[in-house]
Amino acid sequence: MYVKVIIEYGAKAVDREFTYIVPTNLRDKIKVGHRVLVPFNNKNIEGFVLGITNHYSDNYELKEITNICDSEPVLNTEMLWLGNEIQKNILCSKIAIYQAMLPKALKASQNTNINIKMNRYIRLNVSFEDANKYIEECRYPEQIKVLEKLITDERVLITSLSSSINTLIKKGIIKFEYEEANRYVSHTTGKYHKVKLNKEQEFVVSKVNLNKDNTYLLYGVTGSGKTEVYMELIDKVIKCGKTAIMLVPEISLTPQIVDRFITRFGQDVAILHSGLSDVERYDEYRKIMNGKVKIVVGARSAIFAPLNNIGIIVIDEEHSSTYKQDNNPRYHARDVAILRGKYHKCPVLLGSATPSLESFARAKKGVYTLLTLKNRAGGGHLPEVSIVDMKKEVKKGNFILSEELSKKISEKLSKNEQVILLLNRRGYSSILTCRDCGNVLKCPNCDISLTYHKTSNTNRCHYCNYSIKNIHKCPVCGSDNMKDYGLGTEKLEEELNRKFNARIIRMDMDTTSKKGMHEKIICDFGNHKYDILLGTQMIAKGLDFPLVTLVGVINADTSLNIPDFRSAENTFGLLSQVSGRAGRSDLLGEVIIQTYNPEHYSIMLAKDHDYLSFYEEEMKIRKVLSYPPFYYLTLVNITSRDYELGFSEANKIGTYLRKYLGKDTIILGPSMANVFKMNNVYHYECIIKYKYDEKLNSVLTKLDEIYKVNNKVDISIDVNPIRV
Ligand code: ADP
Ligand code: ZN
Ligand code: ZN
Repeated sequence: MYVKVIIEYGAKAVDREFTYIVPTNLRDKIKVGHRVLVPFNNKNIEGFVLGITNHYSDNYELKEITNICDSEPVLNTEMLWLGNEIQKNILCSKIAIYQAMLPKALKASQNTNINIKMNRYIRLNVSFEDANKYIEECRYPEQIKVLEKLITDERVLITSLSSSINTLIKKGIIKFEYEEANRYVSHTTGKYHKVKLNKEQEFVVSKVNLNKDNTYLLYGVTGSGKTEVYMELIDKVIKCGKTAIMLVPEISLTPQIVDRFITRFGQDVAILHSGLSDVERYDEYRKIMNGKVKIVVGARSAIFAPLNNIGIIVIDEEHSSTYKQDNNPRYHARDVAILRGKYHKCPVLLGSATPSLESFARAKKGVYTLLTLKNRAGGGHLPEVSIVDMKKEVKKGNFILSEELSKKISEKLSKNEQVILLLNRRGYSSILTCRDCGNVLKCPNCDISLTYHKTSNTNRCHYCNYSIKNIHKCPVCGSDNMKDYGLGTEKLEEELNRKFNARIIRMDMDTTSKKGMHEKIICDFGNHKYDILLGTQMIAKGLDFPLVTLVGVINADTSLNIPDFRSAENTFGLLSQVSGRAGRSDLLGEVIIQTYNPEHYSIMLAKDHDYLSFYEEEMKIRKVLSYPPFYYLTLVNITSRDYELGFSEANKIGTYLRKYLGKDTIILGPSMANVFKMNNVYHYECIIKYKYDEKLNSVLTKLDEIYKVNNKVDISIDVNPIRV
């Protein structure tokens, strides 16, 4: 008997299956999907069994597997199939995909000490009568106490043994019982208030066929009650004895949605939170695997939750870039969801107020089924949005807050209402430069300027985390005429404190690095402990505060100026999302967008809440420039610590692609990546644009194999990249 085993070995994973002999003592235990220990290069390492066979014809000498790691396979039939399918789509090593599916405790070759914790209980081993008889004759009060407790409570958790327990065990009066402990305790909050779905919502629910592997796109304005629709459908699915996956962009940013699920579905829900420790995650994972929960709510990787009999998969805010993993394996949760939908013959429901262009185009073509919610469910109206031209404000000396925004903030504060301000840049300022010689303070490892952080009095690199104490003298010419330009959240906070007598809280990566801080800020703001919440885009998502009547966008241009074909789409999405935070109750909401590009279509159409026109406008541009959804993109990233070598290899790759790919395929580059130098590594890239190219997979696989054995130059292949 032989097994085919896949292992993870070395930095550039050897992605092939190795054959091993199964020793006789393991033959009736081993199954496909088992994690096993095998000898490889004079070491014992872990791998997964991908196949079992009785024939082997090659004539070199095989080794035996050393052991089986777990009693049951860690990869089930579906996961094994899924890994295969994903690999075909994203061209990465299969082992990387399997590893991504599993919690740390079950990954191969991790050498972790994450174990199942068993709780020990005692319970009676004799009838009540016999126990009572024993009590009557017993002279030891401690033993009597134990037995009386067991007569009332049936079983008792014990953490340490006593001599009386030992005696009772020995005499066979009581027995031990073991059960897996769960180290994660989710907090349940208030009571669930069921809302009655309105006509629009009911119609949407009735349109979803729960017995077919179809993909739906629910396009519903912010506050239209999409979440209620998700919950209703999931409820239906569970009542049929099936299970459900609910994906959200990021758990810590959406505590309110999570709360709604916990209060409605209680113990049936597992939350795969990024804040879980490895042991907690392992416990939650086993709970899911053992069928103890019916619903899994989580971010991207929860798409791999080992649920059986899935009845629906929901992806909220489907346009969110967090659904695409930006390192190996570069899978998109949406694609995995559709594969799992096929496997389980169940629907996939994508929801958004600003769907990605790709998804909306597919819905218009009929590849997905389009469902629409046009109105706000709670009765509130979409907010009134106005645009302020900052070019004019700057002339008046208003660099941070325009006259109009300042006035509105004061007005809302005086009415005891709340304000949310978005500024998509953390730190104090963005550039530190010398006024005498023009030197800009840059990161020594990266091709980017350092950001001044006042709170810590440091200058930091946002790419590699390099940090130095703030300097007052120019390191080039020695002048002390250093000046900082640009606006970050810290400076905004300072300005707000100077201008308003209000309780202000800032939420960005710097104030939320400690575990639980997101939730605390959101909860405190919700309880009106603060009047103004300012922050980066993490405040834009899914929050629902009835007292927020004003949303201000300090600088709508930060996302517009990113050189990326999706920058208009991202800007429109961000502005719509953050606007959606205002006016969610009967209080009317207002939004003020400050910008240096007031005529830009993404900003003007966001003001009108006009997704459909934005879609049409943006599609025209994408068509002219041959970008998605008209063309597919694949990015080949070439990296090296050696500038020259990277350059020459990148050129070779460009030539190779041009020579071997189909004639209708467009190849751009090689060129320097947007951030050319990062952590002392140089980045070049080739962009491949294609509608269909049957040679693509084989050409890229070949290329990947060539560079697997090159230790000076790396390539990575990103199919359908998020950023280009
Ligand atoms: P979305 O997910 O589309 O942003 P939500 O599901 O969060 O919308 O709903 C927005 C608000 O409207 C919530 O406060 C929710 O409780 C409320 N709501 C949703 N559906 C209804 C309904 N049918 N009747 C009354 N209120 C509703
Ligand atoms: Zn200088
Ligand atoms: Zn850096």
